[in-house]
Amino acid sequence: MMIDLHGRRVLVTGASSGLGRAMALTFAVCGAQVALNYRSDEDEASALVQQIQAGGGTAVALQADVSDPAAVAAMFEQADAVWGGIDILVNNAGIDGARAPAWEGQVPDWNDVVDINLTGAYLCARQALQRMVRQRSGVVLNITSVHERIPWGGHSAYTASKAGLSMMARSMALEAAPHGVRVLCLAPGAIQTPINEDVWSDPQGCEDLLQKIPMGRIGQPEDVANVAVFLASDLAAYMTGTTVYVDGGMTNYPGFAHGG
Ligand code: NAD
Repeated sequence: MMIDLHGRRVLVTGASSGLGRAMALTFAVCGAQVALNYRSDEDEASALVQQIQAGGGTAVALQADVSDPAAVAAMFEQADAVWGGIDILVNNAGIDGARAPAWEGQVPDWNDVVDINLTGAYLCARQALQRMVRQRSGVVLNITSVHERIPWGGHSAYTASKAGLSMMARSMALEAAPHGVRVLCLAPGAIQTPINEDVWSDPQGCEDLLQKIPMGRIGQPEDVANVAVFLASDLAAYMTGTTVYVDGGMTNYPGFAHGG
């Protein structure tokens, strides 16, 4: 079944690489108008706009640091000016931050992760919901992680930010449902993107990672993008306030595949 998103205006944050890039392309293939947020990769964002336009789609690149309230407000005003509003927000921008046990971690590193992954998503959702509640329709899709649920040594800020994002989304879903707006989370497992290149490009790191994935392969950005367009479409019209895991079984206790 082809998902038809013609007439839908989508904003994807952190769209110049990895999952954001794949989701932007897939939304465009489904007919949506796509606004690509980027922080600093202007060349990558422009190239993606051109790629979408060359395929007959509609796209625009919008610069903003999602952790900056004024920049986020200005980005949504730009989207209003170009397209008159927004129907789907994908809160995708994120970082995993410096690896360190909590007692060695630095406060600025903690703040960077929380400011981008959690506060940045809040700032964008806040702007989007102001518009969606008014128009009585819309979807906010938050890209969390299996680490909204699975702890991760060396990354307490990341896990806290993603667990917080999940609970933020569930609360927003309660608020927005009576206004015809859905709020969801998509939690990827290990997907091959720049964020985890240090792991999948290292043979030992890759072997260790595969032990944690029952399906026995690292995910590809398209695995996530296909589910994202479904969740944002009317096929998922009765879904809100929950997380969908796209993780090859990573959250299914892989250590219990044998023995026990
Ligand atoms: P990525 O590094 O390719 O993408 C992250 C994007 O966010 C980049 O384009 C980056 O420029 C952008 N970004 C960072 N800070 C920003 C800011 N302040 N303002 C605007 N944009 C900003 O990695 P990815 O794997 O594509 O990550 C996308 C999302 O998926 C992240 O939220 C990440 O936590 C989540 N995720 C990824 C994986 C995985 O295995 N790849 C797993 C679980 C969750």
